[in-house]
Amino acid sequence: MRILDHTGAVLRDEADSGDRGRPEVDRGQLRDLLIDSLPEGTIHWGSKVTAVRPVDDVAGRHEVAFASGETITTDLLIGADGAWSKVRPRVSDARPAYTGISFIEADLFDADARHPAEAAAMGGGMLFALRGETGILGHRETDGSLHVYLGFTAAEDWAESVDFGDSSAATATVLDRLDGWDDALRGMIGNADTPLTARAINALPLGHSWPRVAGVTLLGDAAHVMSPFAGEGANLALYDGALLALAIADHVGDTEAALAAYEADLFPRAAEAAAQSQESMGIIFREDSPKGLVEMFAAFDEQKAATSGE
Ligand SMILES: Cc1cc2nc3c(=O)[nH]c(=O)nc-3n(C[C@H](O)[C@H](O)[C@H](O)COP(=O)(O)OP(=O)(O)OC[C@H]3O[C@@H](n4cnc5c(N)ncnc54)[C@H](O)[C@@H]3O)c2cc1C
Repeated sequence: MRILDHTGAVLRDEADSGDRGRPEVDRGQLRDLLIDSLPEGTIHWGSKVTAVRPVDDVAGRHEVAFASGETITTDLLIGADGAWSKVRPRVSDARPAYTGISFIEADLFDADARHPAEAAAMGGGMLFALRGETGILGHRETDGSLHVYLGFTAAEDWAESVDFGDSSAATATVLDRLDGWDDALRGMIGNADTPLTARAINALPLGHSWPRVAGVTLLGDAAHVMSPFAGEGANLALYDGALLALAIADHVGDTEAALAAYEADLFPRAAEAAAQSQESMGIIFREDSPKGLVEMFAAFDEQKAATSGE
């Protein structure tokens, strides 16, 4: 992990200081590993849920309708369907709202050979290159590509004024946000191999929870979509799934007890990560950035040194 300022000056480089207890895995590889561990036919690909309705509130039975026109009924419905969950409205009226931060997403392929300056600036893992309320957050992927987000504070509808269908005009408009930045950092946007994609960062209210509703629960982003600045969203989704499975195994024959136990742990866990993410968002996109982020990691170092008695 490295922190740079907009001139490309390296303010922190953790290349030689271990992984801070946060090992990383390529998402596609992990996904394949998990999918390949399941018996053939477990996943019904292409089954888009269009509606969910209760058929027996007491027994907790639900009918799930699919785009194909097929319906099923189930006595255990787990909404793991992301930020815009079709299941969430069964338990909560909350909807994700814009955080005030927008991203532009881009990829640079075969970076060491084709984009050496950008690859050198990225370093070996994760990058924060920051200037005030604008920042490049990037990652070197295991296939040698660079995955880049340009993040900035903006009105929710800012992207409507940009014609992303006209690639070179869109790139020029976006690059205006990086006036005065180091060429290699600008190159992460200007020399991207993919069209630039605008993404609004949305989040559910901090501490989102719901009362127990028979036969249904949520996990992952469906339960607690948050801004990505704690780097915990995917971790939590996997962890939620594992703990829900354990709760079900621990309460065989009593689904309600399993779901109640699962949710009792889920809500504080998600609230803590969401609060961390919101705090980091404030630090990353602060007027004096990257100062705050550098200080935050220095404070982690001090804590670590104090607890290890160094
Ligand atoms: C820009 C950005 C950067 C991020 N960076 C990080 C990071 O560095 N680290 C990290 O841990 N997290 C990060 N996250 C967050 C992370 O991507 C999510 O928290 C994580 O993907 C949530 O997993 P999930 O399975 O709950 O939801 P999703 O990954 O959204 O998966 C939901 C699934 O449900 C399916 N689905 C949706 N609707 C329906 C429907 N109606 N019918 C059937 N299926 C449906 C979707 O196709 C999808 O397969 C980032 C997020 C963003 C936006």
